[in-house]
Amino acid sequence: AHPQARSGPEHKAVPGVKHLIAVASGKGGVGKSTTTTNLALALASSGARVGVLDADLYGPSQPRMLGLKGMPDSPDGKILEPMIGHGIQTMSIGFLVDEESPIIWRGPMITQALTRLVYETRWDNLDYLIVDLPPGTGDIHLTMAQRLPVSGAVIVTTPQDIALLDARKGLRMFEKVNVPVIGIIENMSTHVCTQCGHEEHIFGEGGAKKMAEEAGTELLGELPLDIRIRTGSDSGQPILVTSPDSSLAAAYQSIATRI
Ligand code: ADP
Repeated sequence: AHPQARSGPEHKAVPGVKHLIAVASGKGGVGKSTTTTNLALALASSGARVGVLDADLYGPSQPRMLGLKGMPDSPDGKILEPMIGHGIQTMSIGFLVDEESPIIWRGPMITQALTRLVYETRWDNLDYLIVDLPPGTGDIHLTMAQRLPVSGAVIVTTPQDIALLDARKGLRMFEKVNVPVIGIIENMSTHVCTQCGHEEHIFGEGGAKKMAEEAGTELLGELPLDIRIRTGSDSGQPILVTSPDSSLAAAYQSIATRI
């Protein structure tokens, strides 16, 4: 049930891509990239053809999360072939620059890097291209909203007040630039003790639901703080790959059906 992609002369269709979905967060470290990877895999497990564009140009993490290393091929020296991680077509600035060197670019260079990564990758017949945005609201978000035919945005937050406050800013930004917000995902919602099974709301409770209600959008789902999610995404073996039948995988799959 995704809205139609916005189109206008400035929103040029991306060859090989039906729907472009952005994943955003107000602040860093809330699990936006992890959620992007697992949602991409969840969509793929339902039979869709899925790609991930890592637009977090300052801190690309999709190569690591999808277990990818090396450089993409470019037979004609211009168009890049996406790298394939667990069946997901992936492009990231992380493939093109040294992992240890920081990227120090001004606005126009960032804009160009993003549009080139999107339009100069040979996406192969994708139903969904999921864009992992940097945290916050900046040049990349504006470029995306102004140039790319985005179908909608998903916002990832933790239940913490400060994260919710920043997520709310992100939500308003998308409203301002006319990108439809599909809904909110609450990550690290609860923690279940691996020793005793006790469930705790470490970062607070009910915040994302309230925020979604206030903003007239949906809470797409809640994901627990779980060590298997962390070890999976940090080692390039996401939970959707290692335990596709787990309840954690089911939680991502249920969110994926609502995108
Ligand atoms: P962001 O993209 O928002 O900066 P990341 O996706 O990089 O955040 O996640 C930050 C860290 O938290 C990573 O080490 C990741 O493995 C871990 N993480 C994310 N979501 C969860 C979760 N639900 N349970 C446990 N660890 C998580």
